[in-house]
Amino acid sequence: MRQSKLFVKSLREDPKNEESLNAKLLMRAGFIHKVMAGVYAFLPLGLRVIKKIENIIREEMVSLGADEILMSSLQTREAWETSGRYADLDVLFKFTSYYSKGDYVLGPTHEEEITPILKQHVFSYRDLPIYVFQIQNKFRDEKRAKSGLLRGREFLMKDLYSFHTDEKDMEDFYELSSATYSRIFERVGIGEKTYKTFASGGTFSKYSHEFQTVTPAGEDTIYICEACKLAINEEVIEDVNHTCPQCGSKELRMEKSIEVGNIFKMKDKYSAPFDLKFKDQSGDEKIVLMGCYGIGLSRLMGAIVESSNDENGIIWPEAVSPFRFHLLETKPGLGQDIYQRMVADGYEVLYDDRDVSFGEKLKDADLFGITWRLVVGEKNKDKIEIKRRNEEQIKLVEYGDIRKAE
Ligand code: ATP
Ligand code: MG
Repeated sequence: MRQSKLFVKSLREDPKNEESLNAKLLMRAGFIHKVMAGVYAFLPLGLRVIKKIENIIREEMVSLGADEILMSSLQTREAWETSGRYADLDVLFKFTSYYSKGDYVLGPTHEEEITPILKQHVFSYRDLPIYVFQIQNKFRDEKRAKSGLLRGREFLMKDLYSFHTDEKDMEDFYELSSATYSRIFERVGIGEKTYKTFASGGTFSKYSHEFQTVTPAGEDTIYICEACKLAINEEVIEDVNHTCPQCGSKELRMEKSIEVGNIFKMKDKYSAPFDLKFKDQSGDEKIVLMGCYGIGLSRLMGAIVESSNDENGIIWPEAVSPFRFHLLETKPGLGQDIYQRMVADGYEVLYDDRDVSFGEKLKDADLFGITWRLVVGEKNKDKIEIKRRNEEQIKLVEYGDIRKAE
């Protein structure tokens, strides 16, 4: 892609109406646009990052055997009354239709929609287990929406729901999904900073599990057992007596963190009110058991920015970098041939062919945080400078060695 064709301009200064570091950097780099507090639009480069995160998550969901669907954002008041959450959930956006006078909800999560859907399709034990997921915008009327992408009032989530005949099956899938979550955070490049965390809120077991990424911008506090690569959320630290539930160690390190995902054994919390049942092998009716598993994609993007940056800008992990290469030239036109060659060879490259100073290009390259920076200069016409965003060292290579330099 040619940078001169991007309609988005980067900003020289921090936006005035934004407090959080992730949104400041992403807005300055032109990856996102702020619509209002907690609501952002994704611009071309930002959308590329989201799509990369999305593809990794989708691959992992498919490898779990889950089917992708897309549910509606508009939901009925009745469904939320059935679960008992219409009156209780403070973040629920509710409104009334001008024409039908009906009451609606903007989906903050989708247990109230997926369970009635399954009711139309599940009859016998032979129909189970079922795993379905979607990647879709969620709406929550969050009180404090000052953390940029970390806490949106509209945000992108992957939600997975599993349906089982018995507890053992639910437990097994829970463990499988936990391992899949660890792999997702590894693949997007924040594995080292992300901890599986004991948290409250289990309906079935005493604890649920969250996946928490360490960052000073986080709203949560966790206690890390480095040996087990586990953490305990502050909210349950008293319950576990300030010890690691796995190895019994009391050597726990306190950190600020943000929840990027969580997994829940719901048991019959939703299947009971919606009367989701199946016939077992003896023909007896039984209640379906359920698990729910979420990851906030836009929050994940914000968490990556919060945990991977320097004074000059963002440093994307390679797997989610909007492009793999950012091609710069010291004078207009110098990079033209290389750009065309790279495109023909299938490289993913952003070519800064704008008519601006080289200094400005360097600044934007650091701000955008694309993993590999290439510079074509006058002195060495046949060679290309290559530098990794998070390293100082610059190598001079021939075109054929771009890949090898990595
Ligand atoms: P939190 O405790 O941070 O409010 P939650 O426990 O309510 O989140 P879930 O309902 O389990 O979150 O949602 C699943 C995932 O969606 C979370 O793990 C998180 O990554 C993401 N998420 C939740 N709320 C938001 C939000 N307001 N903005 C962005 N992402 C969110
Ligand atoms: Mg939570």
